[in-house]
Amino acid sequence: MSDMTGNGGHGKKNNRFSIAVLAGDGIGPEVIAVARRVVEAASGSEGASFEWTEYPFGAAHYLRTKEVLPDSAIAEIGGHSAMMLGAMGAPSVKPGILERGILLTLRFVFDQYINLRPAMSLPNVPTPVPLNGGKIDSVVIRENTEDLYMGLGDISSDGTLNAPMNLSRGGYKLKGNLSLSITPGMSYAAQVALNTSHGVSRIARYACETAIKRGENKVTIVTKSNAAPALYGFFEDIAKGVIEERQLKWEVVNVDALCYHLVRRPDAYGVLLCPNLFGDIVSDLQAGLAGGMGTAAGGNIGDGVSMFEPVHGSAPDIAGTGKANPVAAILSGALMLRHLGLDSSAARVEKAVSSYLMSASGSDLPFEFGGSRTCAQVGDGVLKKI
Ligand code: ATP
Repeated sequence: MSDMTGNGGHGKKNNRFSIAVLAGDGIGPEVIAVARRVVEAASGSEGASFEWTEYPFGAAHYLRTKEVLPDSAIAEIGGHSAMMLGAMGAPSVKPGILERGILLTLRFVFDQYINLRPAMSLPNVPTPVPLNGGKIDSVVIRENTEDLYMGLGDISSDGTLNAPMNLSRGGYKLKGNLSLSITPGMSYAAQVALNTSHGVSRIARYACETAIKRGENKVTIVTKSNAAPALYGFFEDIAKGVIEERQLKWEVVNVDALCYHLVRRPDAYGVLLCPNLFGDIVSDLQAGLAGGMGTAAGGNIGDGVSMFEPVHGSAPDIAGTGKANPVAAILSGALMLRHLGLDSSAARVEKAVSSYLMSASGSDLPFEFGGSRTCAQVGDGVLKKI
């Protein structure tokens, strides 16, 4: 599929950007519509313009057509500057079909090896843990292509297992077979996790660049090498080497201890460098601590086409009610603007969100924070601040 991967620059001409939009299901289309308006308004002053190509993929499309994500669409998406994704999924679609068929496929095909998940305190957004005057401003840099999420493994019903392990990632190809037997025979499951020097080095380099941009001199490596020394001891060693080369400091924290400390002092961390599995978990914890699903933004970034999406799912319980908070999607739009080199537009979006929330109180807040402002009204409020 190397011909599909694009280079993330093909869609950009003279400050014109082409964005592939997969708004998806549930509240996805509602929040993405607002994010698009904010992105366009904020970037006007940098002379940027956007062309949006909408793709229908998601649960509704799958239920209607049985089509998940055709290769022809992947190839087309590869010609864009970036992708914005809303949310995929509906209760009537078996879990896994869209996650693997759309989200993981896009991450792997475009080799989006960085999952960027910032978390920050926002004005008037209640936090579940008192901050005592402190502010959350941390970022999870999660490795996005390796570890336990490579889809390598199977279930044995009789004690023997032969699972092919063939896959291709940006930078390498893996070939082999997982061959096991257990006595006495019984059913079991085996799933292989892999961390490579290629995978760990590149994510550690990104974590260092992030720390430097934030004006910090330390990267926190999140592992569990006492329990899984091969997998996470290796991750730790490679990461330490890269961080030292950049003349930065590292600290290693076991993931269980980090969860404990994060709950007690959510404002105590900066750049958190995580293997895929721990990054997935820690970034949700961090999002919850910073104020909730409706504010957590994410980016899946690689050297090809990168994808920006709010962290939340399709939230079918509130879809169509206007209760969706678009802040996460708007802040994902800011991550996209920064990725496209439109730094001051990204900062304008972030400032506008802060200033909207700062001036909102009581019923002026989004439903998620106890107010009564709809998704579109929150969008209007943010737009006014731009
Ligand atoms: P998935 O299973 O794909 O993660 P989901 O929608 O079931 O999707 P979450 O995204 O974790 O799960 O959302 C959990 C709940 O949080 C939702 O059911 C909804 O009530 C609330 N929620 C999520 N996103 C938002 C949002 N943007 N604004 C307001 N409430 C939200």
